[in-house]
Amino acid sequence: MDLSQLDITYVQGVGSRRAELLKRELGVSTAMDMLYVFPYKYIDRSRFYLIREIDDEDTFVQIRGTIVGMQTIGVGNKERLSVEFSDGYDTIELLWFSAAIKYIKPKLKANTNYILFGKPTFSKYTHRYEFIHPDLDVEGATNKDTYHGLEPYYNTSEKMKNSMLNTKAIRKIMQNLMPMLQNGVPETLGADILNRYHLLNLTQSLQYVHFPQSFQQKDQARARLKFEELFYIQLHILRTANRKIQYSEAYKMPRVGKFFNSFYYNNLPFQLTNAQKRVIHEIRDDLMSGQQMNRLLQGDVGSGKTLVALMVALLAADNGAQTCIMAPTEILANQHFQTISKFVEGLGINVALLTGSTTKKQRKILHEQLTDGTINILVGTHALIEDTVQFQHLGLAIIDEQHRFGVKQRSKLWDKDQLPPHILVMTATPIPRTLAMTVYGDLQVSVIDELPPGRKPIMTVHYNIQQHARINEFIHKQIQEGRQVYVVYPLITENKKLELLDLQNGYEYFCTNFPQYKICMVHGQMKAQEKDAQMQLFARGEAQIMVATTVIEVGVNVPNASVMIVENAERFGLSQLHQLRGRVGRGADQSYCILMTSQELSKDTRKRMRIMTETNDGFRIAEADLQLRGPGDLEGTQQSGLPFELHIASLATDGEILNLARQAAKEVLANDPTLENPINQVYIDRLKKLRPQIDRTDWGEIS
Ligand code: ADP
Ligand code: MG
Repeated sequence: MDLSQLDITYVQGVGSRRAELLKRELGVSTAMDMLYVFPYKYIDRSRFYLIREIDDEDTFVQIRGTIVGMQTIGVGNKERLSVEFSDGYDTIELLWFSAAIKYIKPKLKANTNYILFGKPTFSKYTHRYEFIHPDLDVEGATNKDTYHGLEPYYNTSEKMKNSMLNTKAIRKIMQNLMPMLQNGVPETLGADILNRYHLLNLTQSLQYVHFPQSFQQKDQARARLKFEELFYIQLHILRTANRKIQYSEAYKMPRVGKFFNSFYYNNLPFQLTNAQKRVIHEIRDDLMSGQQMNRLLQGDVGSGKTLVALMVALLAADNGAQTCIMAPTEILANQHFQTISKFVEGLGINVALLTGSTTKKQRKILHEQLTDGTINILVGTHALIEDTVQFQHLGLAIIDEQHRFGVKQRSKLWDKDQLPPHILVMTATPIPRTLAMTVYGDLQVSVIDELPPGRKPIMTVHYNIQQHARINEFIHKQIQEGRQVYVVYPLITENKKLELLDLQNGYEYFCTNFPQYKICMVHGQMKAQEKDAQMQLFARGEAQIMVATTVIEVGVNVPNASVMIVENAERFGLSQLHQLRGRVGRGADQSYCILMTSQELSKDTRKRMRIMTETNDGFRIAEADLQLRGPGDLEGTQQSGLPFELHIASLATDGEILNLARQAAKEVLANDPTLENPINQVYIDRLKKLRPQIDRTDWGEIS
């Protein structure tokens, strides 16, 4: 019997109504699909604990014991029932609150053996573990399913729960499926891979993942299934990459000529860092190869990516090719334009700017100069990928702070010349290696892992709003010393009136408290010109305090600014906080980042604040972000997406398995790049099956 052909309605316990729900909520239509619905946790029913063994808040335990005391405390909705439970050695407090008391109280008897089941919590008041609303069943009388191993728990949606398709019902269906596995299911991984990587076979894995007898069985099963999932992602990515390399011929740029050299020897105001040199070499090798470069350049904020971009653009110019540099905001495009124009003074390089604010008349001239080749470097926002913008010979496209650009937008660049341009994507939001390998599996990665010399690490502190007065004093002092200050408010969606009010209030607060200084303000609702005027005030040092939203998050460069205050820091993600912090620490002075939050903070927020105060290392922060939030939420990944959804593997925690799976996929492709060998048919089949998921993403266009 082929379980991947067996309609789920034929499985015991699934009628047509449930089948429909399973299809809609979980995408399950066959018995095999169902087996690939994995538990999200397991509860150890294999043993009984002693109270003294409890040492963790997050693990379910079961304890055998008796009730040795009971009292009701408080009245009304403050009422609580406290039960003293003994395992013969120690006692622990069980608590029920208000409405729950009525139903539990009649069930409690002395001199009776109970099985207690629940998750302990550590009480802030008594400093002891306690149970809140645990399960309490008379021993032997329970009509629950009894397990000797680990009990699996499944995620179910609200709709499923409402139709009684809860975790217990799913568990029952899985139990009914188990006998069907007895004759084995077809393998999805080759025998050599199973052997070499010591993996369980699929049949066993499917048995153990649902009903393991031990933690070891569970872990082995899950490791195999994670491997499989990550293997197919890698196989897909690498195979696509292989195909691309065969087809993507691009301009060969072998020359290092006068533009690059005279910049390097005459215009460069400082020494390149070793990391910058290395990265420029890596890029140069790509440009010379005749194949399209697809490179991701990662470098922490302030590591000097703009300079690398410029020098690569000069290489392109030396080879008669034009470069476009795309920035995600007008502020940034402006800034790049100015920086680059200044850098190339006297070189005979023509730099132009194209943004949403460029007038029709200016555009017309620009278009002409682009098509006749007068312009060497075009800096702009996404305005420059519009169809009307044509180049004489676009050889290189540099995309700064890539995460704001969609994959679709990027691919539009292809139509601008006969051959596709080389692509350099620059990002200051470092992506953990696991994620880079998965999301950008077909991009080469260069890393600038060194900051220009002489930078003092930014000092980060965390204050709560009660401490504003102290901070005002500090701001005064810094400004007295000639420094400038950013204050950022979390305007998350640019349309929310309320949040804008926050910013307005903040602006007024600073105007009131610092009447002797000039204060400027920038937010996303302003016209580009207004924004620019305010930015200029700050950049020229005419304003001392800049009150802003996250529009200043990316790339803004004012070296004299030494203080970054983030209000409501709890509302920002780690990567965003790190980006904001990167706006200071760009000059020679000691810089500070002050994170303001309310006093009451969740565990997660406290963790985030701690990481920020502990490290300046963007890669460590990205890892932590991935651990805390999971890859789905990680900035910069939503648009790129994964070729298929992950059901069991986690990019946050399964880096090691990912490495192995990638290695295995590489080995398969090294022997058989097109998977023509009949022995590899299994991979083709499986990829085909995953195909509908692949098609739903824009994966094919990322290149
Ligand atoms: P990011 O990587 O964040 O884009 P930038 O390119 O804006 O960083 O560089 C930050 C600052 O460091 C700029 O003022 C730039 O001129 C300066 N810079 C870049 N490279 C070097 C270097 N090798 N030595 C000294 N300063 C540098
Ligand atoms: Mg930058």
